[in-house]
Amino acid sequence: MAHLRVSTKVIVVGGGGTMGSSTALHLIRSGYTPSNITVLDVYPIPSLQSAGHDLNKIMGIRLRNGPDLQLSLESLDMWKNDELFKPFFHNVGMIDCSSSEEGIENLRRKYQSLIEAGIGLEKTNVWLENEDEILARAPHFTREQIKGWKGLFSSDGGWLAAAKAINAIGEFLKGQGVNFGFGGAGSFKRPLFAADGTTCNGVETLDGKRYYADKVVLAAGAWSPTLVDLEDQCVSKAWVFAHIQLTSREAAEYKNVPVVYDAEYGFFFEPNEHGVIKVCDEFPGFSRFKQHQPYGAASPKMISVPRSHAKNTTDTYPDASEATIRKAIARFMPRFTDKVLFNRTMCWCTDTADANLLICEHPKWKNFILATGDSGHSFKLLPNIGKHVVELLEGSLSQNLADAWKWRPGGDALKSRRGAPPKDLADMSGWKHDAKL
Ligand SMILES: Cc1cc2nc3c(=O)[nH]c(=O)nc-3n(C[C@H](O)[C@H](O)[C@H](O)COP(=O)(O)OP(=O)(O)OC[C@H]3O[C@@H](n4cnc5c(N)ncnc54)[C@H](O)[C@@H]3O)c2cc1C
Repeated sequence: MAHLRVSTKVIVVGGGGTMGSSTALHLIRSGYTPSNITVLDVYPIPSLQSAGHDLNKIMGIRLRNGPDLQLSLESLDMWKNDELFKPFFHNVGMIDCSSSEEGIENLRRKYQSLIEAGIGLEKTNVWLENEDEILARAPHFTREQIKGWKGLFSSDGGWLAAAKAINAIGEFLKGQGVNFGFGGAGSFKRPLFAADGTTCNGVETLDGKRYYADKVVLAAGAWSPTLVDLEDQCVSKAWVFAHIQLTSREAAEYKNVPVVYDAEYGFFFEPNEHGVIKVCDEFPGFSRFKQHQPYGAASPKMISVPRSHAKNTTDTYPDASEATIRKAIARFMPRFTDKVLFNRTMCWCTDTADANLLICEHPKWKNFILATGDSGHSFKLLPNIGKHVVELLEGSLSQNLADAWKWRPGGDALKSRRGAPPKDLADMSGWKHDAKL
């Protein structure tokens, strides 16, 4: 194996994003020769159109199934202890809260499953039964504001300085002498095949350049189903966020507050070093269906095609999102309802039907590996997901992960595990703005 690692050439498409940069990192950590690794992306690391190119993302334990729990525990350990990732984990805690009957019931069930996981999570997760208990963890709320709320505080949780963490991987890769292709020379056009027509041996990029390798990993996030035919296993959707600016006095009051999440409203984070708070709403996402022919599809078909903010800088988000983001601000920080919202952005992820990742070899193209299907919850896996992609390349991925992440057409990725299917951007107003001349 050691010999193979030294001599195997690998191309990582989407290496400027979350799963791709993690894969390139773990190739090096596993002993692959840096000059045999090629990272391709539309933008340099951290790619401006990566879902991870953001101020912050939530870190929390996910209990939904065995693989989710295993991966989130592994990543928590690396965010806390790995020298590369440690600086980007702000372990300020997280409060899941609700005041609706159904929301509180869901929270109780979550608390119960944390305890039943049998791995000591009751030590780091505390039920908040009343306003006093919530105020003790989150003194920035007013008693009036949180009347009737209940909550679940997790001291394992917090936030991740997302773009900065991907940037740190990029700096590491540069220092190691990995090969890069960006822009037209980094944008995937199609896989290349050996004489047998089915063994992938490289990638052609938009500018016509050809890169050859033993293995190709496609980790193109929301763009993956537009690049190769994934047989409707992934549907790409946009979620939104906006920023508000605090004065330095306001920012000081919110310093180190836990991440606050309410499934019916959204979530927000403590201000960054410039006093900027990011606010998100919660909803089933927006699609953007159009006729499109990914490589491998016999003819064009209806596919949700991302439209990145990086390329369309005047795009914002639908008017409907302005209303729901403002509702989240009124819920969490009523004193800031009059603040101007800026950096109003859509950010693209791709859902699978069962919300498990799609990390497997393509069933018809040998040595062409997919690492996608993030389902909107995978930034937290930045430190460790690449380790498992490397295991897959080497045939040592554990059976439980291989089963969860296998090629599996046939489900409903449009609705996925969300409350409803997405609304389509074609039916939404307010997000598309012509560039000012
Ligand atoms: C608003 C919002 C909030 C979120 N909050 C959280 C959170 O709190 N916690 C959490 O864990 N997760 C969160 N997520 C989800 C998380 O960001 C994603 O699950 C994760 O970043 C997806 O990683 P990825 O590698 O699949 O895709 P990306 O990180 O998007 O990477 C895809 C890469 O492919 C590149 N690419 C695209 N086309 C091509 C091409 N033709 N050729 C080469 N490269 C290409 C892109 O430039 C990009 O770099 C959130 C997502 C959004 C949108």
